[in-house]
Amino acid sequence: MSVVQPLLALQEIDEVIRNLEKALRDLPERKNQERSRLKGVSEAYTLTQSDLKIAQLNVNAIEGEVDERKKRVQRLRDQQQSLKNNRDFQAMSREINLANGDLEKQEARLIAALDEINPAQARVDAAKAKLDAEEAEIEAFIAELDRRAAESQAELERQITLRAAAATAVTSPQALAMYERLKTRRWPVVVPLSENSVCGGCHLNQPPQTAHLIKRNDGNVVACQMCGRILYMAE
Ligand SMILES: [Zn+2]
Repeated sequence: MSVVQPLLALQEIDEVIRNLEKALRDLPERKNQERSRLKGVSEAYTLTQSDLKIAQLNVNAIEGEVDERKKRVQRLRDQQQSLKNNRDFQAMSREINLANGDLEKQEARLIAALDEINPAQARVDAAKAKLDAEEAEIEAFIAELDRRAAESQAELERQITLRAAAATAVTSPQALAMYERLKTRRWPVVVPLSENSVCGGCHLNQPPQTAHLIKRNDGNVVACQMCGRILYMAE
């Protein structure tokens, strides 16, 4: 058996471990991404809320105007009672009519403003329902991500056990040490040498004797002259 064979088996397990670790590492960011999808819907809801607030403030303001006009009409009527001569009385009647006209205008404005409240409230309710629905959907998906992460964690632990056995199967301690050292800087560590003597890791040409050294299989690993990766003959 080639010295590289058990290293390839080890590398296969390490590949699985790397992928599981990456998935677990990326999980918080993945969750954030999902939750950030709510931003637009949440902003739309806030906007409908502020529209409703404005409509309510508008009603309050016009109610104040109506109140003021009513008081003015009443005040003019009270004043009219104290008027003695007919001309003053009629002049006051005209003023009261004008004030009443003004009051009616404000009352019409109030009705129009009140008409805005229900549709604005309906838009708030619809936006809230949409937000709630999307929130529920995203939280369900996040729960699913957590469930998958728990599976990944269990699988990771299983693979780590397998790895220990696979490392034991590498008979050359030098080869194993070399593999472990390279693993922190390069991936994959064990790569094929192509038919035309190109390293499968860095894609640079190797000297003609490289293929010969690999085929000799004397128990020593053969490293790429450029990137230091461990080479084996491509089938
Ligand atoms: Zn290389």
